[in-house]
Amino acid sequence: MVTTPIDRLIAGFKGFRATYYEQRPERFQALIERGQSPQVMIIACSDSRADPAILTNAEPGELFIVRNVANLVPPYEPDGHYHGTSAAIEFGVKGLGVRHVVVLGHSGCGGVRRLVQGVHEDGPHADEFVGTWMTIANQACKRGHDADEDAVGRGAVAISLANLHSFPWVRDALLAGRLELHGWWFDLANGTLWRYDETLDDFQPMG
Ligand SMILES: [Zn+2]
Repeated sequence: MVTTPIDRLIAGFKGFRATYYEQRPERFQALIERGQSPQVMIIACSDSRADPAILTNAEPGELFIVRNVANLVPPYEPDGHYHGTSAAIEFGVKGLGVRHVVVLGHSGCGGVRRLVQGVHEDGPHADEFVGTWMTIANQACKRGHDADEDAVGRGAVAISLANLHSFPWVRDALLAGRLELHGWWFDLANGTLWRYDETLDDFQPMG
C-alpha cells in the first residue's frame, strides 16, 4: 500500500488524539476551559528539523511559537504594513504575558546560507521575499568562501535579541522584571543546545 506524506500525518494525528483525548482528556479539557497561559514564547526557524516543541518535548499549552525563515526578529516598525512576527510577539508579550522569550536558531540554516552566499537576483528562482527578509541579519554576515555560516547564524540570534529590545513594551516588561530573553542555538550535527551569554557576547554549549 502506498502511503503518502499526508496519510502519515493523519495517522500521526490519531496517535496524538489517543494520547491527549482518550488517555489524558483532563489536560486538554483544562486548556479549553481556562484558555492558554503559556509561560514561554519561542521564535524558531521554519526548518523542518528544528521544531521547538519536538526539541523540548513540550506539551500542548506550554509554548507560544512563531516560526519564520531563520528565526529572525525584525526591528520595531509600527508603519501599518503586514508584520507577522511582530504581531506574534505582541500577542505573546502583551496579550498572554509570557515570562520568557527564546530565540532559537540552528546549524545548517538555509536562510542564513542564502544571506552568506548572496541573493539570486535574476531568473525564475529569484527571491521575492527571502533576500529582503534576511537583511535583518546583515550585521552578522561575513560573506565569502571562508564564511562560517553557523557563526553567522548565531550572530543573527544575537541581532534578534537586540531587536526585541526595540519594542517599547518588551523593554517595559524587561525593566519591570516580568520578562526574560534567551538566545539558543541547536547544533543538528551532535544534538547539542547552545545558550547565548550576554556578558561574553558569545554562545556556550549547555549541559
Ligand atoms: Zn533555519
